[in-house]
Amino acid sequence: MSQKLELKLNFDVNLDEYLKKHHPNITDYHILTKSLDSRGAPRGKKPVYFYILEVVKKGGSFQEESESFKTKKLSSTPIIIGAGPAGLFAALRFQEYGIKCKIIERGQVATKRMLDISQYWKKGILNTESNVCYGEGGAGLFSDGKLITRVKSDYISYVMKKLVEFGAPEETAYISNPHLGSNKIRVIITKITDYLKEKGHEFFYNIRVDELLYEADKVIGVKLSDGRELRSEHILLATGHSAKEMYYHLNENKVAMKAKSFAVGVRIEHPRKKLDRMQHGKFADELEAARYRLSYHDKQSDKGAYSFCMCPGGYVLSSGTDSDGIVVNGMSNFARNSPWSNSAIVVSVKSPEDVGEDLFAGLRFQESIEKKAYELSKELATGRELPAMTVGEFLKEKLNSKDLPVSSSPSKIIKANFISIFPRFVVEHLKVALKEFDRKIQGFLDHEALLIAPETRTSAPLTILRDKDTLESISHQGLYPCGEGAGYAGGITSAAVDGIRVVESILKKN
Ligand SMILES: Cc1cc2nc3c(=O)[nH]c(=O)nc-3n(C[C@H](O)[C@H](O)[C@H](O)COP(=O)(O)OP(=O)(O)OC[C@H]3O[C@@H](n4cnc5c(N)ncnc54)[C@H](O)[C@@H]3O)c2cc1C
Repeated sequence: MSQKLELKLNFDVNLDEYLKKHHPNITDYHILTKSLDSRGAPRGKKPVYFYILEVVKKGGSFQEESESFKTKKLSSTPIIIGAGPAGLFAALRFQEYGIKCKIIERGQVATKRMLDISQYWKKGILNTESNVCYGEGGAGLFSDGKLITRVKSDYISYVMKKLVEFGAPEETAYISNPHLGSNKIRVIITKITDYLKEKGHEFFYNIRVDELLYEADKVIGVKLSDGRELRSEHILLATGHSAKEMYYHLNENKVAMKAKSFAVGVRIEHPRKKLDRMQHGKFADELEAARYRLSYHDKQSDKGAYSFCMCPGGYVLSSGTDSDGIVVNGMSNFARNSPWSNSAIVVSVKSPEDVGEDLFAGLRFQESIEKKAYELSKELATGRELPAMTVGEFLKEKLNSKDLPVSSSPSKIIKANFISIFPRFVVEHLKVALKEFDRKIQGFLDHEALLIAPETRTSAPLTILRDKDTLESISHQGLYPCGEGAGYAGGITSAAVDGIRVVESILKKN
C-alpha cells in the first residue's frame, strides 16, 4: 500500500538523502508534485520545493493497476482523419480492443517532416502539407511537449502510461507537470506509429481528406486528394485547428458548427539567464530555467490577457500553414537549455463581440493578422522573417535606431513596427497587461525583451457540435469530431484524451 507524504524542503536539499535520514522506513517513492516557490528569491530568500510524494514503506510495494480490454468488433473499419495526438491515441485505444483503423494524414512521416520544416525556416519555402502543424504527430510533434492539462479525466493516466511505454521518462506517469520536449516527442511518435503499423493499422501519408461522403444526414466515407473513396460508418475527424478548408467543407454540407472565442497576441522572448535572475535571484544558476504563468483581467471590458505555452530554455518558431501568412509559436527540448525563454502573451477575442456575427468571422480575423504580418515581413525582408520589436518600442509604438537583440528563432526576425497588424483593442490590452506583468516579475519589460508577432493559433475559432453522450456530430451520424480542431481539446494531453473518449463512445454505442 502506498501513502502520500507532503514535504517542504530548501531547493538545495537532496530528496533521496533527506528521506534516508528522516524517513528510513520508506523503501520507494514517486514524486507526484514538485513545485518551486522562489517568490522571495529576488530578495535573497532561499527558494523551496513543495513535494507531494507517493511513498511505500518496508514490506509494501506500488500497486500496478493494469486495465484489461476485451476484443470487440465494429461493423466497418474506423477511419481516422489526422495523425495528431487525438488521432494517434484514438488508434492506440482501438488497438486495445483489437480493432484496426485506417489513418489518413495529409503530411509526411515524422522523420521527413524535419526536412520540410527546416526548408521553411531557413529558406522560406513552405510545404503547405508538411510543416509545424501538419504531418505525422500533428502540431504536437514540434511542441514544447508540456503534458500538463486542465481537463479532468481518468484517461490522463492511460495517456501518460502509454507515453512511458513508448519511451517517455518513467516520471511522466506520475509527476503532475510532465514535460517531454520536442526531441523526445519526435522519437515517441515514430515508435507509436511503428507499433500501430506492426499491429495492422493502415496509414495513408501525404494524402488529404478533401471531402466527407454523405448520404442524407449520415457521413458514410471520405474522398481523398488522389480521388480514391473510402467507406466507413465511423469517421473520426481529428484534423487540428489549422485545417480551415475542412471547416468550409463541413459548413457547405450543413454539419453543425458554432463560432467560439479564442485569443491572439505576441510571443515575448527574454534572454534566459536574465529571466532566471528576475525570478530566482542569486540562486538562478543552481535552479532549472524559470517558468511563469501570468494573467491580467480588465474589469471594465471583462477582457483577459495572459501568458500561454511558456517555453523556458526554448525557441520561437514560425509555425504557419499558409504561404502568405506568418504565425509564431514556441517549443523547447527536454533539457530546456537554450539561451532564451519565451511565452505567448495573448488577449482574449470574444465571438461574436470582437469579430462579427458569422461563423467564419474568427477564422478571417486570425487570417487577416497572419497575412498582414507576412506582408510586413515581405516589405522589409523576404517574407520568412518574423516581425519583431522590443517591448519598449511596442509600448511607445515607435521603432528606435538600435539593432534588435538576437532571437532564438531559426527563421530569423526582422525589426518591424507590427502594431498595425492587430486590431486596436489587442494592442491596448497587451500594453496594459505587459505593464502589469512587469509589476509581478520585476524586469519583465527588460530592454532586451523582444516581442515577436503574431501568435494567432492558440485554439480553434470554431466548435464542431457533437452530442455530449455519444460524441457523434449532432447533425450527422457516423461523424465523430475530436481533438483541438473540433473545439474539444487545448493541448497534447487533452487532445489524446479526447481521441480515447471518442473511441469509448463509439464502442459503447455499437
Ligand atoms: C509549436 C507548437 C507548440 C506547442 N506546444 C504545446 C505544449 O507544450 N503542450 C501542449 O499541450 N500543447 C502544445 N501545442 C498544442 C498541441 O500541439 C495541440 O493542442 C495538439 O497537437 C492538438 O492535437 P490534435 O490531434 O487535436 O490536432 P493536431 O495535432 O493539429 O493534428 C491534426 C492532424 O491532422 C492532419 N490533417 C489536417 N487536415 C487533414 C486532412 N484534410 N486530411 C488528412 N489529414 C489532415 C494534420 O496534418 C495534423 O497532423 C503546441 C502547438 C504548436 C504548434
